[in-house]
Amino acid sequence: MINSISEQGRLQRLYTQNIDCLEIQLPYLQTEIPLTFKQPYPKTIQLHGNVNLLSCSKCSYIRELDDDYLKSKQFGERTLIRTCPECEEMNQVRKIAGKRQQSSGILRPRIVLYNEFHPDGEVIGNITESDLKSKPDCLIISGTTLKIPGVRRLVKEMAKVVHSRNGYIIWVNLDEPSQTIVDYVEYFDLIVVGDCQLVPGLVSLYDLTVVNAPKKKKRAKKQATPKSVKKSCKGESGATVKKESPTTLKKKLTA
Ligand SMILES: [Zn+2]
Repeated sequence: MINSISEQGRLQRLYTQNIDCLEIQLPYLQTEIPLTFKQPYPKTIQLHGNVNLLSCSKCSYIRELDDDYLKSKQFGERTLIRTCPECEEMNQVRKIAGKRQQSSGILRPRIVLYNEFHPDGEVIGNITESDLKSKPDCLIISGTTLKIPGVRRLVKEMAKVVHSRNGYIIWVNLDEPSQTIVDYVEYFDLIVVGDCQLVPGLVSLYDLTVVNAPKKKKRAKKQATPKSVKKSCKGESGATVKKESPTTLKKKLTA
């Protein structure tokens, strides 16, 4: 569904915490690795890196974790943890030049662990700044409980911009947002509790049974709307809760 929204030119950005790279296999959700300051920025931004790549712990060397790597051998034995070939080469050059040898970096998955430095952090900062300036009118938060402080901050900043445009903040998760998160973001316009992978099917069902249905059949088909969909959630801060008709929300969801 996100790929389709992107294909239609309605997706500003997909920020993902997934490292399995499933989304970037789709044609309209591509990314660049490493990210660069060159615009236009890619549609998908991997906030926590990419498990299919290896990078050197010391220099900027990057390579794929592919079959060649897994099957190849180093020092006569197959080892998964290896020294960086670029660092090794540099050491060879230093040796020929009569200079002191330096330690080589280790190849490791190019993922960002908690509290680790993100190698593309500065570029991501520029991209989020650019996205905030473009004033998006909808923010969908899906499959996360927002426990990572950096992601939580990003959501708060985006939510502020979206609400300033009278846009909608939509939460889709197996669990409802905690009260702390509701207060932090101020309020959500729509909360969907359930498996986010079912949402594309529900949206299609809605199109089929409500939006495109003849008027006389509308009442019966409205029952297809999932019970778990809630219109809004009010925080302790007492923020105003928006109430919109399902049709309006549906339009915003797919707009
Ligand atoms: Zn290296």
